[in-house]
Amino acid sequence: MDGSVLARHTGHVVSAANLLDWYDRHKRDLPWRQGVADPWQVLLTETLLQQTTVAAVLPHYARFLARFPTAEAMAAVAEEEVLRLWAGLGYYARARRLHAAARAIAASGFPADLEGLRALPGVGTYTAAAVGAIGLGLPVVPVDGNVERVMARVARIEATLPGARRAIEAAVTTVGRQQAARERAGDFAQALFDLGATVCTPASPGCLACPWRDGCGGRDIAERLPVRAPKKRRARWFGVHFLLEDAAGNVLLRRRPREGLLGGMMELPGTPWRPAVWEPEEALSAAPAKAAWRMLGTVRHGFTHAELEVTVLRAGVARIRAPGELVPARDLAQAGLPSLMLKCVRLAGLARP
Ligand code: SF4
Repeated sequence: MDGSVLARHTGHVVSAANLLDWYDRHKRDLPWRQGVADPWQVLLTETLLQQTTVAAVLPHYARFLARFPTAEAMAAVAEEEVLRLWAGLGYYARARRLHAAARAIAASGFPADLEGLRALPGVGTYTAAAVGAIGLGLPVVPVDGNVERVMARVARIEATLPGARRAIEAAVTTVGRQQAARERAGDFAQALFDLGATVCTPASPGCLACPWRDGCGGRDIAERLPVRAPKKRRARWFGVHFLLEDAAGNVLLRRRPREGLLGGMMELPGTPWRPAVWEPEEALSAAPAKAAWRMLGTVRHGFTHAELEVTVLRAGVARIRAPGELVPARDLAQAGLPSLMLKCVRLAGLARP
């Protein structure tokens, strides 16, 4: 399929071969691009990268790959072990689903097509396409935020997202059908990622250095594309958590329910999180012990749809009888606490990095 198809669809022509030439010279040097792409390692990398940035994943990548070089290696450990390693990366449901996917792969082998990939736990359209293209060489183009932005500009799509997504996907599909893109599907996908991350950036696209500058239809209005609907204000939630210590220097932790935010992660015992502020007596009914609770401070934490404000109370007792796990205060940094809970215990000077 040649550029005339893209021209018919978008009114503009860009060449997959040009983009690949540029990629061969300018690709980012990322640790997961060493050697031949292994499908499991691509799945692991893409799962780590969901909802976060390359910079946030880099410090964790080598640790994960060393611990779980194969799906079988992850399938062999308990879910808690994966969650412990995932601590600090957020969106913990990803870790649980990746563990379930590893078990499915260990049982039935790695899927060979998109349908099989999509049937794995936690693998949606984007991840299936990314693993399909990069790990298996299937001629598909994964559409992430970078690709969306590049193609909205190239094809000059001025409709508002998310409604514009179909037109963007049609433009992506059209350019992805070019022979060069099909022959090097994994490189083409990564070339689009890199173009969006390093040249066609959100605020100040470097059009002069862009391999697609001649065929790009949206250069003159690039900063305005893609057009997004105004963001809704995030809801505000409130919670109270209790840092309870015993005379031996242990802190009481418990595991959150599997479903919901931070599902399955360790936490300080506390109230549910809700849109209304907790009155003191009401909050104390959720305390793990009757004790002289004193206020340590508050921490804020942003989730995708809500901003959470947590009040942290602290108390000491001779012996802790409430259900949960007793962890020596000096070991809290290694207890697999999510970032929110690390912020809470750090109010007490514990688990310092
Ligand atoms: S020419 Fe500019 S707007 Fe068009 S794809 Fe390249 S960097 Fe983006």
